[in-house]
Amino acid sequence: GTGTTTETATTITPGTAPGFPPFEMKEGGELVGFDIDLLSAVVAEAEGYQLGEWQEFAFDSLVPSLTSNKIDVIAAAMTITDKREQTIDFTNPYYNADQAILVREDGSFSPSKLSDLSGHKVGSQSGTTGENIAKELIKEGTLKESNYNSYDSYVFAVQDLQNGNIDAVILDVPVAQTFADQRPVEIAFTHETGERYGFGIRNGDDDLQSALNEGLAAVRDSGRYEEIRNKWFGS
Ligand code: GLN
Repeated sequence: GTGTTTETATTITPGTAPGFPPFEMKEGGELVGFDIDLLSAVVAEAEGYQLGEWQEFAFDSLVPSLTSNKIDVIAAAMTITDKREQTIDFTNPYYNADQAILVREDGSFSPSKLSDLSGHKVGSQSGTTGENIAKELIKEGTLKESNYNSYDSYVFAVQDLQNGNIDAVILDVPVAQTFADQRPVEIAFTHETGERYGFGIRNGDDDLQSALNEGLAAVRDSGRYEEIRNKWFGS
């Protein structure tokens, strides 16, 4: 943090999973995005902590990397879920999202509800809340397991959608919107989940949790949060 305690500040190593624009992605070899800017701003305001070097993982490796001490904080548009809270802890929420069903914009497939995905090929990223929806559809018999593809990155899922290898991708609305702005894909419909993103930390890291929550409050109060949001999402 900005305090006067630089000599004694604890360095925390952040981890993320690029390929989730505009939250985290690579641009010209550089890791950039909303989460990158926000966590940096939050830690700058967090008394007693400073940010170490960003580490990159596949999304589904982030929680294991945190619990095995490879990283100390996850900043990856990670939804606070009961299931994850059995293993790790979260800061207060910093962003809200629902799920979107992304399709090609050529009109070849225009679903308007989840049951319309029946008989079609669907993809999502491994370990995500989007994948949870696909798994639910498989469990209830709407989606055949052989019609579901799990990807290490949503970038590959969207590529396969464009190629016609799959017909729909289930992913967070703000990221679906970003892909739709950049590629020949569009949001067919959204599915309300009321998800909230938090920074993930290890269970029992209570001092870090308090410092990050205070940092987050400071960043909101100072208007810095809004600046970062406007930078990545427009005003
Ligand atoms: N918010 C979703 C989740 O937590 C997706 C996050 C991501 O793919 N980076 O599962």
